[in-house]
Amino acid sequence: MKNKIQELALAFEHQSQEIKTLTDLEKVRLHFFGKESPLNIILKQLKTLTPEERQKIGQEANQLRNHMTEVLNKKREELNDQEWKEKLAKDKIDFSFPGFALPLGKLHPLNLVMNEIKTIFRELGFLIVEGTEIETDEFNFQKLNLPLGHPARDMQDTFYLDSETVMRTHATNMTARYLTNVADNSHDNEVPTLAVLSAGNVFRRDDDDATHSHQFMQVDGFAIGPKISFANLKWVLQSLCQRLFDQEVKIRLRPSFFPFTEPSVEVDISCFKCRNENHGCEICKQSGWIEILGAGMINEQVMSLNGLNPKTTTGLAFGVGIERIAMLKFGVNNIRAFYENNLKFLEQFRFYGM
Ligand SMILES: [Zn+2]
Repeated sequence: MKNKIQELALAFEHQSQEIKTLTDLEKVRLHFFGKESPLNIILKQLKTLTPEERQKIGQEANQLRNHMTEVLNKKREELNDQEWKEKLAKDKIDFSFPGFALPLGKLHPLNLVMNEIKTIFRELGFLIVEGTEIETDEFNFQKLNLPLGHPARDMQDTFYLDSETVMRTHATNMTARYLTNVADNSHDNEVPTLAVLSAGNVFRRDDDDATHSHQFMQVDGFAIGPKISFANLKWVLQSLCQRLFDQEVKIRLRPSFFPFTEPSVEVDISCFKCRNENHGCEICKQSGWIEILGAGMINEQVMSLNGLNPKTTTGLAFGVGIERIAMLKFGVNNIRAFYENNLKFLEQFRFYGM
C-alpha cells in the first residue's frame, strides 16, 4: 500500500507538471480528488490494515493530500495571474484615442421659449393649462364676443372640422372655458378670482411665408377678480417683457382692437438690441420699438357671455405668439426654420437656458 502512495505521488508529480491552463488544472484536480480517486480508494482500504499500519499509511496519505492541495493552489494562482496579465495586455486603453460625442437631445427652441414664459407666469401665480386643440365654435368664437356672422371672424381664417367644430384659432378658447366654469361654480354675489395661462398650438388658414405659418404656438393669459385694473395689466406686461428680454426694456402701449378686450392695446418694447442709439437697427426697423403682443381688459360683453357679472368682476387678458418671441430672442428671420427639423439649425440652441 505504501508503494501505491508513492506511485500516486509520482503520477501526480508528472501530471501536475503538464498543467498549462485552468481547464487542465480542473481535470487533474478531479482525477486526484474525486470520489473515485486512487487516494480515496487507498483511504477506504485502511480499515483492512492493522492499527499500526493504518496510522502510518493514513499519515502518509494525508501528507500526500496536503501536498497535492498546496501544489494545485499554487498552480491556480499562477494561472489566474497569467490570465489576468494576458487580458490586461489585450484590453490596453489608448488614452490618445479621440473621444466620441454623446448624441444628447435638447428641447426645440420654441419649447425653450414656451417653457420660459410658463415659468414666468407660474411664478406670478398663474395656473398653466394646455387645453384642447379641437374646439367648438361656441368656445372659440361665440363666447369671446365673435357671434356667427361677426365681421371680425374674417380676421381669422379658420379650419372647420364641421359646422360646429374648429381647430382652435387662438389659445383664448381656454379663457372662455375657464370663465364659464368659474361662473358655474361660484355663488350669487361672489366675485371669483382666477389667473390662467393657456399655452399650445393654434391653427389658421394662412399661406405659409417667412413670417406666417398655418400652425403656430401661442400663450394666452387672463386674470379676473374684483379689482383687476389696467394698472395690473401694465405691471404684468412689463414683468413679462423684462424677464423675457432684459431689465432695461420699456413697454409702450398703442390703442388697438380685439373683440374680446375693451380697451385693447398693442404692446411694443423698446429695442433691446440697439437701445435706439444711432436711430435704431434692423430688428426694430430703425424705429427703436418692436411690436410684441396684444392685450387689454376683458370686454364686459365677454364676462356676460360666460355668465359673470361685468359690474363686479373685471379682468385683464393678453396673447403672445411664441414664434415671434423666439425669432426676436434668437435673431431668426424666417419662421419656417422652426419647422424644418434641420439639425444644424436646432443644435445652435443646445446650450440656451442651461
Ligand atoms: Zn433696434
